Amino acid sequence: MPDGGEAVTSEAGTGWQGDVLVVGAGTAGLPAAIFAARRGARVVVAEAEATAGGTLRRAAGHVSAAGTRLQREKGIADSPEAHAADIARITGGTADAEMVALACELAPRTVAWLDELGLDWDPASPAILHALEAYAVPRTYWGRKRAVSIAEVLVPLFEAEVAAGRITFLPGLRLTALDRAAGVVTGARFIDAEGRAHRIDAAQTVLTSGGYTANPTLFAELTHGLPLCGGAEPANTGAGLLAARAVGAMLRPARHFLPHVGGIEDPPGSHRTARADNPALMPERPPWEIWVDRNGARAMREDEPDRVTQQKALTRVPDMTFWIVWDDAIAAAAPTLLPAWRGARLDAAWNRHPAFTRADSLKALASATGIDPAGLAATVAAWNAALETGAPDPLGRQHRPMPIVQPPFFAVKNHGTTATSSGGLAVDRDCRVLEAPGRPIPGLHAAGEILGRELLSGNAFVGGMSITPALAFGRRLGEAGLVW
Ligand SMILES: Cc1cc2nc3c(=O)[nH]c(=O)nc-3n(C[C@H](O)[C@H](O)[C@H](O)COP(=O)(O)OP(=O)(O)OC[C@H]3O[C@@H](n4cnc5c(N)ncnc54)[C@H](O)[C@@H]3O)c2cc1C
Repeated sequence: MPDGGEAVTSEAGTGWQGDVLVVGAGTAGLPAAIFAARRGARVVVAEAEATAGGTLRRAAGHVSAAGTRLQREKGIADSPEAHAADIARITGGTADAEMVALACELAPRTVAWLDELGLDWDPASPAILHALEAYAVPRTYWGRKRAVSIAEVLVPLFEAEVAAGRITFLPGLRLTALDRAAGVVTGARFIDAEGRAHRIDAAQTVLTSGGYTANPTLFAELTHGLPLCGGAEPANTGAGLLAARAVGAMLRPARHFLPHVGGIEDPPGSHRTARADNPALMPERPPWEIWVDRNGARAMREDEPDRVTQQKALTRVPDMTFWIVWDDAIAAAAPTLLPAWRGARLDAAWNRHPAFTRADSLKALASATGIDPAGLAATVAAWNAALETGAPDPLGRQHRPMPIVQPPFFAVKNHGTTATSSGGLAVDRDCRVLEAPGRPIPGLHAAGEILGRELLSGNAFVGGMSITPALAFGRRLGEAGLVW
């Protein structure tokens, strides 16, 4: 059993009580707990993992805000209104305008807070990030250690509150259900690593348990049946969403899912991909190979210079799955395609790992991968013919160094991947969880990725618009008036 702190009473060792229960000690949960404790609330934080930090352990750590010290020092004029207008432009109005305005309004003080805490900003920030759909002005910041830089300033604050007895931290407790009596959420149920059940009673429960990128079933349900492949925290099982739904909360399914281009599912069947396998190597390595879908057709322009255009093109590919196909001559001439798969590891993967296929003919390659053989043969023939005649590529590809003619032939299966959950819980402006439009569930709030990336990013990846609002809304929930 985890240690209970002195700020709460234990019910004969089987449960805890507090004013505020925070479920998940990650990006949103840490500020929610810290600021609730500073207001004098008795705070209990339950966390599935052994330590606090959540996705801050692995995220890129980009935060975005307008009108900051870092911008002023570089002479960049900006405002929260301009930030919100830029998000409306980037997303074509597909994000929630009211919540975007609130997030942009809260963002500068969030970055100022990190600044005051001494976050070690990368001197290259603020910058415009072109890997995402670009903001009009530099307003994105990050630490030298990516999101770990944020964790390094927040976790000590959290630990200080725990040490002072104002927060009871219960690591190793996994949320299983919320309690709702007479309409009001009165706390939650948990299970520990030994399978023992626990209960925490609280006047207010704040769900900050993250998204569902480690739950293939929920991902398919909320993302039009699309298969999940990604590299998020294993703890992001969507437990908070499911528990909230079980007590009547409304869920907003994804409307505009946008994948990252390419990732190899490894281990097979795991739904997980490693960042190092991402073959979206433009502009560092223009592709020598072709990328085909299961019909054998070219999946998209392989050397598309604009990442967002390529991500959108992948959403039109069946199952967002494509194979990178090349031949022996390309294997000998081209720079390494997959840096994490070379030498003995690659040799061992061919025809044993389901994503890696090598065959002596295109027909055998198609048969082993499940790609339509006639489609693949026609695509390769057209590719080779265009190279020979110098005809322009139908998809506009510029980099076409070699034909695909010399056996053996190779195919590596890739998926559209995701790092964040697009859909989430429906909330109002105060992050109260709704059971119907305009009808909050008393006692239940939520912040962070559990609200879904689309709330603030719509049909795009908007720089910093997951971490910044997770911190800002978490803090706001911890502050006066909203939580209790
Ligand atoms: C690789 C990667 C890069 C990213 N880069 C950026 C970026 O640069 N900028 C940006 O804005 N966004 C980025 N994101 C997204 C952003 O990091 C997340 O959306 C955000 O950190 C989520 O915050 P959160 O508080 O909702 O969840 P988390 O930080 O994941 O915290 C959730 C916590 O809840 C715990 N938990 C989960 N289930 C349970 C349960 N059943 N019971 C108890 N506890 C539970 C988890 O263990 C975790 O500690 C990135 C994401 C990834 C994966």
